Amino acid sequence: MQLIWLRSDLRLHDNTALSAAAARGPTVAVYLLSPEQWLVHDDAPCKVDFWLRNLQRLSAALGERNIPLLIRHAATWDQAPNVLLKLCQELQIQGLHCNDEYGIHESRRDAAVAEKLENNGIGFHNYLDQLLFQPGSVLTQSGTYFQVFSQFRKVCYSRLHGSLPALVNAPRVQAPMALKADPVPQQVEGFARPSQSLRDLWPAGEDQARERLERFADAQIDYYQSERDFPAKPGTSQLSPYLAAGVVSPRQCLHAALQANQGEFDSGSVGAVTWINELLWREFYKHILVGYPRVSRHRAFRPETEAVAWRHAPDELAAWQEARTGLPIIDAAMRQLLETGWMHNRLRMVVAMFLTKNLLLDWREGERFFMRHLIDGDLAANNGGWQWSSSTGTDSAPYFRIFNPLSQSQKFDSEGRFIKHWLPQLAALNKKDVHNPAAMGGLFGVADYPAPIVNLSQSRERALAAFKSLPPRMDAGAGHE
Ligand code: FAD
Repeated sequence: MQLIWLRSDLRLHDNTALSAAAARGPTVAVYLLSPEQWLVHDDAPCKVDFWLRNLQRLSAALGERNIPLLIRHAATWDQAPNVLLKLCQELQIQGLHCNDEYGIHESRRDAAVAEKLENNGIGFHNYLDQLLFQPGSVLTQSGTYFQVFSQFRKVCYSRLHGSLPALVNAPRVQAPMALKADPVPQQVEGFARPSQSLRDLWPAGEDQARERLERFADAQIDYYQSERDFPAKPGTSQLSPYLAAGVVSPRQCLHAALQANQGEFDSGSVGAVTWINELLWREFYKHILVGYPRVSRHRAFRPETEAVAWRHAPDELAAWQEARTGLPIIDAAMRQLLETGWMHNRLRMVVAMFLTKNLLLDWREGERFFMRHLIDGDLAANNGGWQWSSSTGTDSAPYFRIFNPLSQSQKFDSEGRFIKHWLPQLAALNKKDVHNPAAMGGLFGVADYPAPIVNLSQSRERALAAFKSLPPRMDAGAGHE
């Protein structure tokens, strides 16, 4: 008997470990509930709810193939080796199969499980699945991890031209077993159930994810490059929660994009090429997480930026978190996050720059808050995005390139449609005033909208001074772990 240990790969199709287990013989599936670990990782309640909803769908799909899904508790991951060994012994499992996950805690957990099982004569088989390339297999000529995305991407393209990762088959229907599937809980203690409106935005199940992917590849991908920066438009795929939970695989995404582009990676539809680039950014940040484990411990990628004198201003942090900074584009974006569990990429950059530059607050505060609210929260991408915006990361924005939230607002939400949707109290303002109600002057101000908490030009100068005074750039090599 084989055991597939499901983690962030909640799908039946194109699941490497599941196919490999099923190819060896009768298979049982298990999922571990680890609420204490999830709290340590700041996993958002809406994300945990999304996992559970997808597990329910997956359990039904596996059931149709006579693969029972068992649910076990391992409050923290250090309990995983014993919980899994016990299960393997009860069911006389010969081999456990799982898809690799990245991050220090994940790697440590898997090494401990492998050791425990192997000491007891049970095989541990892990597979590359969450990524297109094994971390450590895309390196510079001197054998180090790439720190610059464009160079990383170039190597990825040349590899993909050589051989495209193939999709793997879903497991066949196996002979029925006496073992019954466990019910998947509706909720886990410590993680509040999100609103129904949030749940409706992110329907669970592989068929939903594939439908979203197909719709995007058929109807939207060609406009991706020109529409992706405008938050009022449905210009991006909104697949991130599904990719993060593994309800859809990056191979399925890549194949769909290539199909929409007659098999071309770097020519043809500029939209498809740009979208494939984004899939490679996802790849890049996960490679960085493995190559430079300090980012997995919330340390700056660039060592010299650990010296930035971040301010302590809890009131300003709370205003940012609660969407009351008095800057409409920032507040509208934060409302979108709080109500939907998701934020448009352009706005993630804008609010992150605002927090780390205009408010000069530590990027780790923003990283943590995002993680606690995002349905697509992913350590590598979130950390990469925050370190990019705060100029502490790999290939990040130079510290002097500070986005002005008002210009960003005027450029990417010129009619104010996004702002008015999330801040209805500004609905009556014209498309000029809506970006900056404060400029209308006292008498014309909007009664229930606050004045800006910070002066943009002065705070910009303050941020420039804080970064200018840093020691010279240090080598960001692996020696700084
Ligand atoms: P699309 O534009 O359709 O892109 C397709 C897929 O490519 C995405 O679903 C995602 O998996 C990947 N992708 C796109 N952009 C990036 C990127 N810059 N970095 C890594 N992967 C990318 N993305 C997350 O998945 N989880 C996070 O926790 C996360 N936190 C972020 C925090 C900040 C401060 C910033 C600036 C970006 C963050 N991103 C994160 C990246 C990006 O904003 C989201 O992936 C994107 O908005 C998701 O929307 P989409 O699925 O419509 O993307």
